[in-house]
Amino acid sequence: MTHPREDALLASIDGRRDDLVALTQALVRIPSVNPPGAYYRDCVELLGERLRKRGFEVTYVRAEGAPGDTEAYPRWNVVARREGSRPGPCVHFNSHIDVVDAGEGWSVDPFGGVERDGRIYGRGSCDMKGGLAASVIAVEALLDSGVDLPGALEISGTGDEESGGYGGVAYLAERGWFSKPRVDHVIIPEPLNVDRVCIGHRGVWWGEIATEGRQAHGSMPFLGDNAVRHMGAVIEALERETYPALADQATSMPVVPEGARTPTLNINSIHGGQAELADGLPAPVVPDSCRMIFDRRLLIEEDLDEVKAKMRGLLDGLTQSRPGFRYRLRDLFEVRPSMTEPDRPVVTATAEAVRRIMGRPAKLVCSPGTYDQKHVDRIGRLRDCIAYGPGILDLAHQPDEYVDIDDMIASAKVMALAAYALLTGGGAG
Ligand SMILES: [Zn+2]
Repeated sequence: MTHPREDALLASIDGRRDDLVALTQALVRIPSVNPPGAYYRDCVELLGERLRKRGFEVTYVRAEGAPGDTEAYPRWNVVARREGSRPGPCVHFNSHIDVVDAGEGWSVDPFGGVERDGRIYGRGSCDMKGGLAASVIAVEALLDSGVDLPGALEISGTGDEESGGYGGVAYLAERGWFSKPRVDHVIIPEPLNVDRVCIGHRGVWWGEIATEGRQAHGSMPFLGDNAVRHMGAVIEALERETYPALADQATSMPVVPEGARTPTLNINSIHGGQAELADGLPAPVVPDSCRMIFDRRLLIEEDLDEVKAKMRGLLDGLTQSRPGFRYRLRDLFEVRPSMTEPDRPVVTATAEAVRRIMGRPAKLVCSPGTYDQKHVDRIGRLRDCIAYGPGILDLAHQPDEYVDIDDMIASAKVMALAAYALLTGGGAG
């Protein structure tokens, strides 16, 4: 449903520009760097106490026992909920509060929240404190818009997204915070550009392949068995069989950039043989072990178990064809792909709001890498989840990261219209 006082609502978001800037700056000035997971409590309190004053019921949840949760670096999360005037769906905005390390190469203070040329600079400004601030402004403006709101609005600030989300969304999802009947629609304001609606992400499988050999003197390699050469055979087989097959695979996922519309396989590292000694040379021995760590990204059409079976089949083939070939394959990390159907209300309502505010159709996209949608989908069993927010994805994690203030305003408008439509049963479906 269209907001009956839409023009006034949008004007009121324009009028909150200074508030939006100040909130973004306040968030950026808290250096909630992960690892180690610092200052989460400061971040969630800034958010929670602001929303409590607006009538939200605020719950702080510490992810006790989650990876990295210690007395020095407790994994604090916040969920704020405000009931409407009558029962109805719940629209939830989820943002991660953690940021990656500032790193080198900044021309401004990475935690200064500097405003310049219509932008706010700082680590996390784009990924994703700008999006968090925009969602707060959107929700506050909607509450002040003088119309009766059914259902419930929720805003959460969660930790550890940059390290997998186990002390954040995953922890909350395991405890029912991201499931029906509590929540119906989730919008994650990750920086995916203000005119795009991100409906999902590819999956991930990190694994380790180890080849084994037999040590011998380097002058008589025929007395040993070289594990690095065995690994060379693995790479050759990947080049011959795997890479061409990956390049051929089509998908219904609108992944951006387009190069990621096939499955990808990156060889992250290879280590074999003895370490170099003080003189820069290794000992003259035949290496008896070699390890490769790879990063395989999966499309929605792929089954992770089949992908693993194929890799194992390739290695078993080498065991058959190559004398002395022995290997071990170990799983390190995995995330299944996730994609919300394009006709779900959370997608159509947000896309329609983008069209109204931006004056052009929204692009539906998928992310090449993962974000917290995986936990909402797999653990919360909630399909109705998207990422939508201001900021240019390419700037995330870079020096001189910034978010454009006009983009934050535009995305706050989109979020307010989408939330209203969803609360009042809009977005069809
Ligand atoms: Zn992010």
